[in-house]
Amino acid sequence: MAVLAVAEHRRGDLRDPSFEVLTAGRELADAAGTELHVVVTGGDVDAFAEDLNREGVDAIHTVDYGEEFNAEVAVQAVDQLAADGEFEHVVVPNTVNGLGSAPAIAQRLGRPIATDAIGVDVDEGLIITRELYGGKTEGTIAVDGPAAVVTVRPGEWPAAEGAGDAAIEAADVDIDEGAIGTTVTGFQEVGAGDVDITEAEVLVSVGRGIEEEENIVLIQALAEALDATVSASRPIVDNEWLPKDRQVGQSGKVVTPDVYIAIGISGAVQHVAGMKGSDTIVAINTDPSAPIYDIADFGIEDDLFDVVPALIEEFGGDVPDF
Ligand SMILES: Cc1cc2nc3c(=O)[nH]c(=O)nc-3n(C[C@H](O)[C@H](O)[C@H](O)COP(=O)(O)OP(=O)(O)OC[C@H]3O[C@@H](n4cnc5c(N)ncnc54)[C@H](O)[C@@H]3O)c2cc1C
Repeated sequence: MAVLAVAEHRRGDLRDPSFEVLTAGRELADAAGTELHVVVTGGDVDAFAEDLNREGVDAIHTVDYGEEFNAEVAVQAVDQLAADGEFEHVVVPNTVNGLGSAPAIAQRLGRPIATDAIGVDVDEGLIITRELYGGKTEGTIAVDGPAAVVTVRPGEWPAAEGAGDAAIEAADVDIDEGAIGTTVTGFQEVGAGDVDITEAEVLVSVGRGIEEEENIVLIQALAEALDATVSASRPIVDNEWLPKDRQVGQSGKVVTPDVYIAIGISGAVQHVAGMKGSDTIVAINTDPSAPIYDIADFGIEDDLFDVVPALIEEFGGDVPDF
């Protein structure tokens, strides 16, 4: 018996969740006392397999079919790989691609599915931890049956690292082209002049503490001085001071930058859900009881209108009028 993790890629690169799913899968395999296998479908599967060969991975199955990741190919591959009952749990990233394949995998295999896990364990069967009520509380859910499909939330597990010594082999599967109804025909870049905050290494994030739209220039100047990207909490986007694709949080984007600077952001659960996976969190907030300080690595308990200009100067930028 083994746990099977499903990797995904886009435009020639394995995506971060593919390495996080290895860590979650390893955790599950340890709890179940089994091996961790990985399947990668499409693209340069040999190069991908080399990259996925990280510590804790026992075997990698490659399916050389098509260029881009295709959820329907992944479904067929997992269905055939798992047909002999070798895999007790299938672990899939809770991403657009993963949510396109996981329910179909569960249906094909006749197994229950548990989605958006932030913790995994095994007792009689699969046990997952999940956020409930918009992240206000967590619940533990026991999944019926000995084998299940689980999707794991991006940013909750660290990426697997270290070189592994997994056996890499071309999977003995037969993809039925006629059963594939979707094809990736191209990619549309984010709007002209705009950015993808999920790719940023340093995010300078602004919240309601900024008070007025005119003051956002201050945050932009700090981002420029730090060569960083501006993101925001929801009220800033609701006020249309910044576009929706800058919003971090439960109803925005999940980000995992190296550094996240939260300026005038209280740290509501819905915001934290989108940024708690950041490597280093810096908070600037006048309120010492603001929940953002519960997760911040560094805090500056002071007025942002004093702190931000000082930081801009410190990093060699020009302080705008505000
Ligand atoms: C279903 C649902 C989904 C949601 N999704 C999201 C989401 O995706 N993202 C999100 O962000 N929110 C989301 N929210 C909203 C969330 O609950 C909070 O209301 C929001 O995150 C608060 O934003 P904020 O921290 O900017 O504002 P506030 O909570 O008002 O905090 C402002 C902070 O600024 C500080 N401050 C004020 N003046 C200064 C100053 N001069 N200097 C320094 N600090 C100062 C204050 O002490 C305060 O802590 C969602 C809510 C719901 C119900």
